[in-house]
Formats: sequence, structure tokens, C-alpha cells
Amino acid sequence: MTKKEGHMQSHTMELPRLIVVGENNLNEFGEFLFSLNKPKKISLISGINVKKILKNKIEKSLKLKKIKFVWHTSTDNQINTLNQIQKDVKKDCSDIVAGIGGGRSVDTAKLISFNLDLPFVSVPTAASHDGMASPFVSVKSDKPHSIVASAPLGVFVDIDVIKKAPTRLLASGCGDLIANIIAVKDWQLGHEKTGEYYGMYSADLAMMSAKIVMENSSMYSKKGLDARVIVEALISAGVASCIAGSSRPCSGAEHLFSHALDKIAPGKGLHGEKCGIGSIMIAKLQGQDWKKIVKTLKEVGAPTTAKQIGLKENEVINALVMAQELRPERYTILKEIEMTERKAMNLAKSTNVI
Ligand SMILES: [Zn+2]
Repeated sequence: MTKKEGHMQSHTMELPRLIVVGENNLNEFGEFLFSLNKPKKISLISGINVKKILKNKIEKSLKLKKIKFVWHTSTDNQINTLNQIQKDVKKDCSDIVAGIGGGRSVDTAKLISFNLDLPFVSVPTAASHDGMASPFVSVKSDKPHSIVASAPLGVFVDIDVIKKAPTRLLASGCGDLIANIIAVKDWQLGHEKTGEYYGMYSADLAMMSAKIVMENSSMYSKKGLDARVIVEALISAGVASCIAGSSRPCSGAEHLFSHALDKIAPGKGLHGEKCGIGSIMIAKLQGQDWKKIVKTLKEVGAPTTAKQIGLKENEVINALVMAQELRPERYTILKEIEMTERKAMNLAKSTNVI
């Protein structure tokens, strides 16, 4: 809440209203929707594989509550595909839109429901990033970044489904959580340097999600990742963004690095994996304990080197150089260091990323 001429500026917090995390609970999906806004009809957006696996259970649960439904298939997040799905969803005349999937379908549904001014529910089938409860959507463009849509009205998670997804996705979710350590530091720096709003509560909340991973990683390395704890941490991180009113507590220079890679080397590595690797390098720039981040990422089974996700040395270097340009108005540690190719190479080498 920045002070301007003696007045406190208004600050809006839009939050999810109902969050359900259960195990083998897809049969309760209809009931969940009913308690949200008693919809007569729902538009369901998912990928082909997810639909194949979950179709029967979801449809059965919707029929029990007499909720009509229309499925839509999300194949990619190109603007043409989005526009087509949006046109189709508009024709449904639904009362609510659900995004069911690992990331793309949830993002697609979030954006479309925002554009059509319809309530949105998120049904994540993998826990690879913190988008399930946040109001943000990743967009592909000249300058890939995330834009603000609406926070989901509800979040519905079946942990049994999350557990069946490849472990790599859950490890990527841990990378996205560790990134909060970097993001919060950048936010503090931005506050000091530009006087921008800094929300201590949302910053601490985002840090708590990261700490859960940092503190439990050695146990996870022995006993495996705890899907429920990681899902709750990811939801909480999304809520931290809702409270902050921006992606600030969960997205700093390490996210800009990841967005730069989206552009330079599309399709290589998952979002959380790239943010994890970015966190190692940016932590060093910030003077934070980057070795502890490496250790934690290794323990949760997330990549710590470029090679592990098929990135070439020059792609990492170029992404470090490009990162801050993607979002010049967002103050990060990269503003303090004019990142040249030489500096980028030294940084990546000294942290064993390349
Ligand atoms: Zn993220």
C-alpha cells in the first residue's frame, strides 16, 4: 500500500472462494460446483489424454447434480486456438468454465473465462507450477511473460490423479516454489530502489511455501515427494500472489530467465525446472546461499544443470542477458548488474549450470 500524498492507495485482493484437496474424490466434483454457484451447465477445457482418463468419473459426478456439460479440447496455446475455443465456449452459454489439466488447459480456461466474464474453476492434474490458484496466465508473445486474469473461484484437486502423473512434474513444482526465495528478495530490492508496494504478509506466505520444500527435501530424497504437501504449498503460493495483487512474491529474475528460455529454446524443460535452474544463478547474484538451492533441487529430483533439460550453453547465456529486457519495469537484481555475455558465462559456469 504505497503512500501517495498522504493517502493509502486502494489494494485489491481477489481470492479463490473454495479449495478442495482430496484423494480419489472426482466423484465429488459436481457437488463442489453446486456449492460454488449452482451451475446448470459447465464448459470443460482439457487436453485429449486427460479427458480420456477422467471423462467417465467427471461426467458421472456432473450428472448426479444434473449439471449439463460440453467438452473442449486444448491442443496448444497459440492465439488462434485460444480464439476458437473461446468462440465455442461462448456458444455453450455455460454458467462456469473449468480448466482440467497440467498447465495449458488450466491457463486456457482461466484466460477464456476472464475474457467472457464467467467464473472459473481450476482442476489441476499435475503439480508442476503454482498457476492452479493464481490469477496469472502465461502468454506466448514477442515478450513471453504472465498476464493478470481472474483468480479461480474454486480449486479442486484429486491427489490420486496428481500422484499418477510423472514424478518429474512434481519435482518441477518444487522448482517453482524454491523460486519464491529469489522473487521475494527481488521484490524487497524493488521496494528499496523504486518505492514500489511491498506486501510483507504475501511475501512471508510465499516464503513459507519455499521453506517447506527446503526443509523437507532430504526426507523426500529418501521417502519420495509428498504430493499433498507440495500441492498445498503451490496453492498457497498462488494465494500469496492473489494477496499481493501481482506475481511479485512468486516471480523475480529467475522467472524472467525462464521466460527468456521459452523464447530462445521453446519446448526445452518445464517451467518449474527452468525457474529452479534460474534460482541457482540468481541466488548467487543476490548473495544468497545458492549451494543450498542446488542441494535441495537435487534432493527433490529436479534438474540443476542446463544439460539435464537439453539446453545448450549459449542458450543459457543468452537467456541471462535477455531476461531483464522482457520486463523492464520490474526491478530485479539484474537491474544492478549489467548482464553481458561474459558475465553470464562466468555466472553459469561458477554455479555449474553449464
Ligand atoms: Zn512460476
